[in-house]
Amino acid sequence: MKAALYIRVSTQEQATEGYSLDAQLQKLTSYANYMHYEISGVYRDEGQSAASTNRPELKRLLRDISAEKVDCVLIYKLDRLSRRVRDVIDLVEIFEKHSVSLYSLTENLDLSSPFGRAALKMSATFSELERETIIERSKLGKEQRIKSGSFICTGKAPFGYRADFKTKSFHVDEKEAETVKKLFELYLEGSSFRQLQIYAKSRHPDKFNSPSACRDVIKRMMYCGMFVWKGKVYEGKNFPPLISRETYFAAQRLLTKSGKKKVRDNTPYLLCGKITCGKCGSFYVGKLRIRNGKHDRTYICKKRLYQGKDNCSNKVVPAEIIEREIISAVKKINFVVCEKHEEHTNDEKIEKLLDLYLEGKIEKFVYEKKVKLLKKAPVEEKDRPSGFLLKNIEKLPKNKMRKILNLLINKIQVTDGKIEIFWNF
Ligand SMILES: [Zn+2]
Repeated sequence: MKAALYIRVSTQEQATEGYSLDAQLQKLTSYANYMHYEISGVYRDEGQSAASTNRPELKRLLRDISAEKVDCVLIYKLDRLSRRVRDVIDLVEIFEKHSVSLYSLTENLDLSSPFGRAALKMSATFSELERETIIERSKLGKEQRIKSGSFICTGKAPFGYRADFKTKSFHVDEKEAETVKKLFELYLEGSSFRQLQIYAKSRHPDKFNSPSACRDVIKRMMYCGMFVWKGKVYEGKNFPPLISRETYFAAQRLLTKSGKKKVRDNTPYLLCGKITCGKCGSFYVGKLRIRNGKHDRTYICKKRLYQGKDNCSNKVVPAEIIEREIISAVKKINFVVCEKHEEHTNDEKIEKLLDLYLEGKIEKFVYEKKVKLLKKAPVEEKDRPSGFLLKNIEKLPKNKMRKILNLLINKIQVTDGKIEIFWNF
């Protein structure tokens, strides 16, 4: 009896144990020896998938079968020949034509007898039919379930929920749901995704590895009781909402707005990262307070914001008040610090030109031409801003103001009502 040993491994399987070519070969060789078969050849398809029968060594085996060089084919498992039962049947039919028997080491299928082959064909036909109907049925069922408001997810339940496979519904996970609510609240108050992440990570250390995870939370429609499937919105029936629709859509509006501009430059909080808490040492962060429908910008101790009033009782400061105070302090130091600096910035030169023009000392076209030139010329970066800029600091765009304040101020310490400025000079 001349036995051909056919072994195959896919690229994916090469990584997993038990399926290695050597393991297959060893088992087949032992079997052939035990049966006193003569091994006529070993056919090894390495890194070959079972999706098609177009494999070099399988083709060689079929050629050798046609040439009557083989009496039987030994395989470790049927799926080594093919994962598609149709292909297995086709191969078995070719074997049959040449009176070659097939023996699989792990399946109890005796394909050397006509009955065994008939059994394989029957079971294959049945399982294929069954598979097709199950797929059709589940497709139909899924679509109907979704349209009647069932949110379906494969894999893990979305953050904030626990899946109940028996009732095909989702329960609220209290701790996660609380985080979701807080994240929406913080986001609407003007916190960045980075700040959201810090909060979320403090509660769920193994989750929220990037700020974008918080972005995903803010975008998830499920939290307001709806979901999207194939571009259509459905009213969710198998899960409770965690937040109101108003909250969700307010967050989406903010999301599209902030997506257009750089958030950092756009923050309305002038003193971000400058104010520290005189009681606990934490930074003060910007927070939007909504009262009677009115929005008030404030600064609040981060510890108080995230850990509650019990952990730090330092007062919340209205942004307008502290910013006005800081700006007026900056305008005062102007004379002391900047009079020593005689260099002129372009703005100063423009200001002087304006004076000259207004006094009638230069013509309008001269003034305009020179201003144009000066505006094109880059302003040199200096350690300290000049007098003109400081005098007019509140007329500058916020990002420029922030830049100047960063140069001048080391930190601002707030202790209840008291504001203390630590200068950089
Ligand atoms: Zn504090």
